[in-house]
Amino acid sequence: MDMKASLGMQAYALMRTAAMSISDAVLPPVCLSCHAPMVMHDCLCAPCWGAIDFIGPPVCDRLGIPLPYDTGGLMISAAASANPPDFDRARAVAAYTGTIQKLIHGFKYSDRHDTRRLFGRWLAASGAPLIEDAGLIVPIPLNRWRLLHRRFNQSAILAYEVGRRTGKPVAPLALQRVKATPSQVGLSTKERQQNVAGAFRVPASHRSRIEGRNVLLIDDVLTTGATCNSAARALKAAGAARVDVLALAMVTGTLG
Ligand SMILES: [Zn+2]
Repeated sequence: MDMKASLGMQAYALMRTAAMSISDAVLPPVCLSCHAPMVMHDCLCAPCWGAIDFIGPPVCDRLGIPLPYDTGGLMISAAASANPPDFDRARAVAAYTGTIQKLIHGFKYSDRHDTRRLFGRWLAASGAPLIEDAGLIVPIPLNRWRLLHRRFNQSAILAYEVGRRTGKPVAPLALQRVKATPSQVGLSTKERQQNVAGAFRVPASHRSRIEGRNVLLIDDVLTTGATCNSAARALKAAGAARVDVLALAMVTGTLG
């Protein structure tokens, strides 16, 4: 590197440090959940971290639900055997409870986007094997009305964070909502399935990106899996070789 470039780099580094200290002075690092003072940005304090029920092995290979014991090889839960999902594998960072439930609620409904980097780190770690196999990352789309209401699609933000960290391509428009589905909140499993049946399609402009590819769907919370099943069916109808699902949280005990 010549002297001029080297000086340029030093100046840039100094400016960056100065900018970081200014932003630290304006917005000192706090716990993303309870706002207790912290030494670093984008972190949680120990008690808030402790109130996260992280999902780790052993899990059902299809549904990603925690299993009580490890038998060694690939394990399929009774729920997945009885009622196999249309997606291939699902994984979630944590059970939908405690700190993560609070953080996701803020992210979805209160425009709290300061959590996106932490969410991206978690998704990249929990979904590492799925991300490695993926050729394309696709977020679950919101319908237009809800997009207008919320102004952003939280799954697309998560998909971009995963793409940025892993270098995998993100296709936010590869899935479209073809019908406006009422909110899934408060519906039974059967009602949820009916509500989202045929809700998605792959537009003709995106079929060549889907055909023969392994697709990784990104969602915020997996409840019964009905939405992801419907999305997986649309992607497979468009020729996707495999459809995996990666979510921040999972309502454990209901997926199936
Ligand atoms: Zn805290």
